[in-house]
Formats: sequence, structure tokens, C-alpha cells
Amino acid sequence: MAEPVELPSRLAILPFRNQVLLPGAIIRIRCTSPSSVKLVEQELWQKEEKGLIGVLPVRDTEAAGVGSMVAPGMGSDSAGRGVKGAAEVVGDSQKQDAKNPQEVIHWHNRGVAARALHLSRGVEKPSGRVTYIVVLEGLCRFNVQELGARGTYYVARVNRLDLTKAELEQADQDPDLILLSRQFKATAMELIAVLEQKQKTVGRTKALLETVPVHRLADIFVASFEISFEEQLSMLDSVDLKVRLSKATELVDRHLQSIRVAEKITQKVEGQLSKSQKEFLLRQQMRAIKEELGDNDDDEDDVAALERKMQSAGMPPNIWKHAQRELRRLKKMQPQQPGYSSSRGYLELLADLPWQKVSEEPELDLKAAQESLDQDHYGLVKVKQRIIEYLAVRKLKPDARGPVLCFVGPPGVGKTSLASSIAKALNRKFVRISLGGVKDEADIRGHRRTYVGSMPGRLIDGLKRVAVSNPVMLLDEIDKTGSDVRGDPASALLEVLDPEQNKTFNDHYLNVPFDLSKVIFVATANRVQPIPPPLLDRMEVIELPGYTPEEKLKIAMKHLIPRVLEQHGLSSEFLQIPEGMVKLIIQRYTREAGVRNLERNLAALARAAAVKLAEQKDCVVQLSKDVHPMTTSLLDTRLADGSDIEMEVIPMSINRQDISNAFASPLTLAVDEAMLEKVLGPPRFDDRETADRVATPGVSVGLVWTSFGGEVQFVEATTMLGKGDLHLTGQLGDVIKESAQIALTWVRARAADLKLSAAGEINLLENRDIHIHFPAGAVPKDGPSAGVTLVTSLVSLFSQKKVRADTAMTGEMTLRGLVLPVGGIKDKVLAAHRYGIRRVILPERNLKDLAEVPSAILAGMEILLVKRIEDVLEQAFEGGCPWKPQSKL
Ligand code: ADP
Repeated sequence: MAEPVELPSRLAILPFRNQVLLPGAIIRIRCTSPSSVKLVEQELWQKEEKGLIGVLPVRDTEAAGVGSMVAPGMGSDSAGRGVKGAAEVVGDSQKQDAKNPQEVIHWHNRGVAARALHLSRGVEKPSGRVTYIVVLEGLCRFNVQELGARGTYYVARVNRLDLTKAELEQADQDPDLILLSRQFKATAMELIAVLEQKQKTVGRTKALLETVPVHRLADIFVASFEISFEEQLSMLDSVDLKVRLSKATELVDRHLQSIRVAEKITQKVEGQLSKSQKEFLLRQQMRAIKEELGDNDDDEDDVAALERKMQSAGMPPNIWKHAQRELRRLKKMQPQQPGYSSSRGYLELLADLPWQKVSEEPELDLKAAQESLDQDHYGLVKVKQRIIEYLAVRKLKPDARGPVLCFVGPPGVGKTSLASSIAKALNRKFVRISLGGVKDEADIRGHRRTYVGSMPGRLIDGLKRVAVSNPVMLLDEIDKTGSDVRGDPASALLEVLDPEQNKTFNDHYLNVPFDLSKVIFVATANRVQPIPPPLLDRMEVIELPGYTPEEKLKIAMKHLIPRVLEQHGLSSEFLQIPEGMVKLIIQRYTREAGVRNLERNLAALARAAAVKLAEQKDCVVQLSKDVHPMTTSLLDTRLADGSDIEMEVIPMSINRQDISNAFASPLTLAVDEAMLEKVLGPPRFDDRETADRVATPGVSVGLVWTSFGGEVQFVEATTMLGKGDLHLTGQLGDVIKESAQIALTWVRARAADLKLSAAGEINLLENRDIHIHFPAGAVPKDGPSAGVTLVTSLVSLFSQKKVRADTAMTGEMTLRGLVLPVGGIKDKVLAAHRYGIRRVILPERNLKDLAEVPSAILAGMEILLVKRIEDVLEQAFEGGCPWKPQSKL
């Protein structure tokens, strides 16, 4: 750092346009104008001992102000600030002079003496012009007393303004100055502290603060900021130390404030960048990094798409938080990582579930609902009535927690289609969850995600499929769930159906509660008995017992045939299935309570007809000789054009009759008996079956109730040599086995009265075994209602008399011979009717159940009500029971 120097009385003057060099500052300038080049050459370059020159600020004409000296004919050089930036000497004095010889130069009357720290000379090619680059250091202020020319440049007579060393030492004692210096240093330190956070190079400035005298510091600090020319000038003019220090303090402080304000603004702007923008920026950066690493693939986009899907899924806040946590985990994983796909699958499920989405429910129109039910279903008056009641309650109180409807009945009676009609009436989506064979609780509740291959339960899966949270959900075959070591699905279902609990249904896989309260549940079952009582308690059972042949015929004509034709792309003009043929299908090919097989057989006919039709269509073109089939190439062209190939060109010579014959008549197909046999095969059932089967003694006809509705069940008994054992076969349950024991006991006890044993022969089983078989051996059977049938079969066996082929029976019996009522009377009577059996023996106490049987069926049948087993026997054998004892048994 330069110490105060001896100042010569005359100094060559280098003009600085709109620029001030302050003492202590270092500046690099490039001199190009002839006058400045001359000055540098003569005063600095050629002198052995480098002298000092004076730097004097010059104002632009328009910026000229007070306190300036006026002197003619001198250009000025301008300079950049600081050592780093090279300053271009822009003014060319001669040019300027030539342009405007009258131009007045506004010299400032104070300048700074400077010494050259570095000099370099350059010669421009090809002009040969000489230029200098000079690094100048400001030393001390001077006052211009007189300005004159020395050749092309100026010289001035000057006197020193800055204090000498001795004067300074004296001034330093001034308490005011001490205070001012402290103040300045404090502000300067603050500035340094702020700058320190931004750049690491302020260490040097800090050192300056400790070593350089404060009056020089003021100049150095101010010289390092961007301040206006006026401020620079006033700094230059501040010869008095106190003035200089307070001015410098003010400028430093102002600079400090401006830095702070700028910082604040940046912070504010940064803060305004929303979180998502930040995330976006970060993500962009991450992508760039990945790209650099070469492991950028579409996964990123996938995850982003998943995130967008999750955002629009409308999850409740707590679940959204949970999902985000999982998403963050996923983002950190590589797709190849083991947990990636499971985590992804889980999030997909969260995003797919209908957290908020519902189908809009318009105002319910009960009349329209009734019409829609009638349109889709024949008969079922009571059932439809109950559904309408259910809908009416919902209309009055949409959030009513009514019972869960459970349709119970054999397959194919319309349980599923009724449930879907409910959905239609409510304008809700419909989803069917099959529960048949579900033994594992996890099927309902899902597996925890810790299991390999874990999945959500069927309910959550169903909701995902249907994509709304208020569907009509059919719990199909709810009676077919069972429980074993893997838990009890029924208990999970209990939670599902309980309005108190299903608001927060917890699927193990999902692991967050899902609200099922908006779902309308409807269940179906084939039988009521297997449904666990607590579950049954939550449901209202609506029985659909099965159809009579007449009902089936109507259903087929009105609903099944039109639907089947439509499904096969046929119309009733092409395929006609007459009523008589439908009746035959019902009698000979289907012996079921519902109409499923009937529908299947009709579909088979439709398929066959479709084939025939297609074949005939081909024929038609060839049949009519006058109609020229189009050549292949023409056809191809027309196909390629996308035109309709069915628009055949028919020559005018053919009369209309021919045309209609050629196209219409051969295409109408009416189903006849021959076609039935061809398509459906030989009849599977006939009315003679019963007669054939009871042709030998020991066989009786019972009526049972299975999950397929009512059925005719033959019971066969035979006897052989043995030790008096009873053999039972045909997959029998305990109850039916016991019934067989009871029956045998009763017959043995009454053997004499019934004249079954020879006189004196007490033991019916002497040297013989009895074998009772229930055919259809693969079908499990149980229940007490075969009691009377068993007795009849045994009596027939021992008496060697045939049972009447036209009579079927049902009824539980006691050991004393009383006949007790049984269930499923309507189904059983219908089953007998299906088999062409016209006499049915029923317990007397089942009389009330006959009201359910359609009168059309009853009209053609003889129902025999019995109290005791003897009455059964009386009716079961031709000519009554010939062995009836005189006395009551
Ligand atoms: P389930 O669920 O009881 O086994 P579905 O509802 O699947 O039976 O019915 C089988 C077929 O029979 C369906 O095509 C259905 O539309 C038809 N169906 C059953 N009952 C009737 C009826 N009363 N009227 C019209 N079609 C019926």
C-alpha cells in the first residue's frame, strides 16, 4: 500500500471521462487517443524513473455542472474500474476536435496523482498505431491551480490536498475522528460479513481493514462499489477526513442495505415458487442425473402417471398421507428391487379404488322400477312386490339401513338377474362377488402384504372393478362358504353386512379402512340351512321356489327366446321355436327347478340354426341361376372400397317372386321334433322312467329337497343271505341313516301285523342282511324326510309287492309310526309334477304349505294327506294295504 508521497508541482494530466480514480484504487486503462498515447509515452514509458501523472475527471458536456474548470481542445480517455477490467479509451480527441472544434471540456478542478504499476505497449497492425495498457494506482488528491498544454497533452500546476504523514498522526488524536473511524469500520465489517456468505474471497478485504489507515480505507471501499459519477466526485472532493469518513460510512451502509434488499427479494421470489414447482425442478434435476448415469427409463414417467392417478383418486386425507409415504418409498426403489412391483401394485390399487366416486342416483321412480322388473321377469309377483317395498323405503329414506335381501332358491330361478334389476332400478352399477367354495377368511379380507403374492379380498377387488363406491353388490352363493383352519369367512362377512362396522372395513391387504356403507348388498343362496345363524340374522330371506312347466314355458316364450335369438344375431323371422317344441324341451330335456338348462338348450338350437342359416345364405347366391355372382376380383375391389357387399346386383329379368323366394323363404327355420333330437340328442327324461324303476318290489319313490330344488329320489332295498345286518349306501348323512334304522325297526316290530313274516317267524332278519341304496350315489343326501319312503320300500321288499309307479311321498316318521311334517313342499310337489307323477303322499300337517303350490299344478294332481305310516302304506300300494290288521297299530 502506497504511503503518502512527495507531489511535484507540475503533473501531466490524463483526463478520465465521467470517471474518478480515488486514492488507493487501482485501475487498468487502455490508451488509444494520440494525446493520451503521447502522454504515456513521454511521461511514463520513456522515463527511466517512472514519474507520477495526474488523473483528472472530465464531465460530459450535457452532464456539466458547477465547480469545473474550462479549458479548450482536449479529448479524454475513459477507463474501466478495478484492475481486472481493461478500460477502452473511447474518446479520440482529434476526431472529436475535428468534428466539433468549439466543444468545451468540463474539467474537474480536483484530481488524483497516480503512478503506473504496470505498462505495456502495443502496435496495431497494419496501421502501425501505438497503444498502451497502463495499470495505475491512485495516490493522493491534488488541486489544479493552472492547466496548460505540453504538446498534445495537458499539464497542470497542482498543490497537494491530502494530509501529510505528520498531519495525519495529529488528526488521528481527534476524538470525533476516532468515533467516525469506529463507525465506519463497524459498517465495513458488516458489509464484509454479508459478502462473506456469498463469496469466499473476502478474507483479503478483512485483512485490509486491520492494516490500512482508516482514511485510505474509506477511499478504497468506496472505489470498489458501483456508485454514480457525482458520488465519486463528491468523494474526491471530501478532503476533510471527517467529511470523507462520514460520506464513506453512508455509502458503505447504503451498499449494505441494497445487498440486503436484493437478498430479501430473491428469498421472497424463491418462497413464491410453490412446493410443486420445487418438486418439479428437483425432479427435472433428478432426471438429468439419471440421464447422465444412463439409467433413465420410462419408469419415471410411469411413477409420475401413477402419482397423478393417485392425486385424482380422492382419497381421504389420512389415507392420502399413507399413500404418499408408500409412494416416496417406491420412488427411492429401483424397478429391479424385490419390493418394487408389490409396492407399485399396492399403490395402483389405492389409486384405482373408488374413494369418492359414486353413480348418481336420480329420483327413484317406483312405477318405472316395477315396469322394469316386470319387463325382465315373468311371474315372481311376491318377490317383485318385496323388492318394490325395499325400493320404496330407500326412496323415502335413502340412508336407511334396511335388511340385506337374500334370495334363496335353486339355480336358474332368476336370483342374480333380480339383483341386477335392483341395480338398474336404482341406476347403480352392479357387481357380483362369488362366494361359492370360499373357505379362507383371506378371500374376503385379503392377505397381508407381507405374504408373497398377497392380494386384496374379493370385496375390495370387486369395488376396484366396478369403480364406484355405491354399487349393488351381489354376494353370490353365501350358503356355500365354509370355515376351516384358515379362518371363518362368515365372520368377515358379518362385519361387511353390519352397518355399524362396514364404514371402516379393514382389508388386510389394503391395510387402511374402506367405507362400504354406501354399497347395497344383496345375497343369494340355494338353501337357508347352511347359512350361519348370525349371518342369516342380518338378512331378509326371500324364497324363489322354482317354476312350474307352464311358468317355464311363459318365461321361455317371453324372455328367453327373444334374448337367445338376439345373442346369436338371429331374429324370429329366421328361427321359430314353437310353443309345442319348448314344452318338449321342458319335459324331455330339462328336469330342473329353474330355467338355466332350458336357456342353454334354446341357445343350442339357436347356434344350430345360425350355422344352417349361414349355409343357406351361401346357397342362395348359387341357387338363382339368373343372378350372376360377382367375380372375385370385383368383390375384392368392392371390399377394398369399404362398400357394402350385401348389395348384390339383380338383373331386371327376374321377377319379384323369384327374388323373395330366393332370399326369404329358405331362411326361415322352424324347430321341429327331428331338429330337437338332432341338436339336443335323444330325450334325457321321459315319464315312463318311474314306472320302469319301480317295476320290482323293494323300490319306492320319495321326494327330497336339494340345493337344486325339489327332486324325485328312488329308494331301493334288497335282501340277501346274511347275519341280519343293515347296509346303507348312496352318500348318506347321519340323519338319513338313523331314519333307515327307525324304518327297519318299525317294520320288524310290525312284521306280524303286516303279515310280512311267515307264521311263527318272529325275526324278519333271520339269516339275511338288508341293503338299502339311494341312487345317484355321488350326490350327498341327508335329512329326515325319507322316513316314509324307507318304510314303504322295506314293506314292498318283504311283501314282494310293487309300489305304485304314479305315487311319490315325503314325510318324517317317528318310531311309533306317526308322520311328521317336512320342508320344501312346493319344490317337492313341483318335482313330482316334472317327473309326471300325479299322486303325492304328504304329511297332513303340511296342508298349509300347499297354498304355495300353483293351482294349475295342483289341479292335475292327487294330494294324499296322511297322519300315520299305515295311511302311507294304504296309499302306496295298488288296492291299498292288503295286510292292514283289524286293530290299530
Ligand atoms: P340364479 O341366479 O337364480 O341361478 P339367474 O338369475 O342367473 O339365476 O337366471 C338364469 C336365467 O334365467 C337368466 O337369464 C334369467 O334372466 C332367466 N330367468 C330366470 N327367472 C326368470 C323369470 N322369472 N323371467 C325371465 N327370465 C328369468
